[in-house]
Amino acid sequence: MQPIDEIRVRLDGDVQKLESRVAGKSAAQAPALASGPEEEGPTPARQFEDLKVRYLGKKGEISGLLRAMGTLPAEERPGFGKLVNELRDRAEALFAALQERIQEMEIAGSLAGSKLDPTLPGYRVPLGSLHPMSQVREEIIAFFQGLGFELAVAPEVDNDWYNFEALNIPPDHPSRDMHDTFYVDDKVVLRTHTSNVQVHYMETHPDQPIRIIAPGFVYRVDNDATHSPMFQQVECLVVDKDISFANLKGTLFLWARHMFGAETTMRFRPSYFPFTEPSAEMDVSCYFCKGTGTVPTGTGTVPAGTGCRVCKQTGWIEIGGCGSVDPNVFGKVGWDAEKYTGFAFGFGIDRITMLKYGIPDISYLTRNDNRFLRQF
Ligand SMILES: [Zn+2]
Repeated sequence: MQPIDEIRVRLDGDVQKLESRVAGKSAAQAPALASGPEEEGPTPARQFEDLKVRYLGKKGEISGLLRAMGTLPAEERPGFGKLVNELRDRAEALFAALQERIQEMEIAGSLAGSKLDPTLPGYRVPLGSLHPMSQVREEIIAFFQGLGFELAVAPEVDNDWYNFEALNIPPDHPSRDMHDTFYVDDKVVLRTHTSNVQVHYMETHPDQPIRIIAPGFVYRVDNDATHSPMFQQVECLVVDKDISFANLKGTLFLWARHMFGAETTMRFRPSYFPFTEPSAEMDVSCYFCKGTGTVPTGTGTVPAGTGCRVCKQTGWIEIGGCGSVDPNVFGKVGWDAEKYTGFAFGFGIDRITMLKYGIPDISYLTRNDNRFLRQF
């Protein structure tokens, strides 16, 4: 018999023998297998490894055949090599199938010794979702990042300088009264707006174009249906040469249409902020009544012609404040106000979330009531 045939016969025999041992074990003696060494010598897994090494190992019988090929006459080598390769493929397939059988047997063995019933249905793990405010915040960030804005942060507990003075709000300035500030001490406050990021960023990135978006928590002594002492704002700052109020309007218009729909229109009302000049309040047309102040077509229990409660029948929704960067702010942080201009705007993420989902009370957002949160 040729050495190749001889090895093939032996391989088949050895694999078959081990297979019958495994089959016998899985039927009758599986639990015993799982509990370590046994009286009949090596475990099937151990035997399997030995067998595999004997045939397929580096110094195994099939490698030996390949090594022996060198002693053959050149014309016999291709035919011989083909037969050896076939034998190796056969051995690999046999061992793969056998290994699967052994693993199944081991699992069956460990299950038979335990009280676990693998046929019972599993526990359903409830999947959470992002908080509605987080969803809105992520959506806003993603939109502005798409326009090339960079994410920036600033401390929530900050020096008076960053929150007020550098933003053109000196200690005796009347606008401080509007801020209802939490003071940590004379010089340290809980920031009342995200605008402190403007000062930090301009100080650490002097004399270069800026385009940042800065979401974060801010604090004010205020607590009613539409105000919470801690709330989230998002702030944007753009500084470069030749930045105008038109750039501000264009940017906000793009955002408003993205957030509230393609039919959204905007209006700017003159306003006052110490750190922007000129300043404006931005309103968008009410997405719910399409700016008419009354619900045009009945929805659900609301008949057509009912006054719109989203915009309080004005047709407009207040979104936030904005304006061109006041030259005094550039002066405070040591920038050249002749060389640079810029714009900034900020709005409350809580407010946008309430508008977007028609949430009537801001405290829903912080109650952590699952009945409410599961709706998003
Ligand atoms: Zn409306």
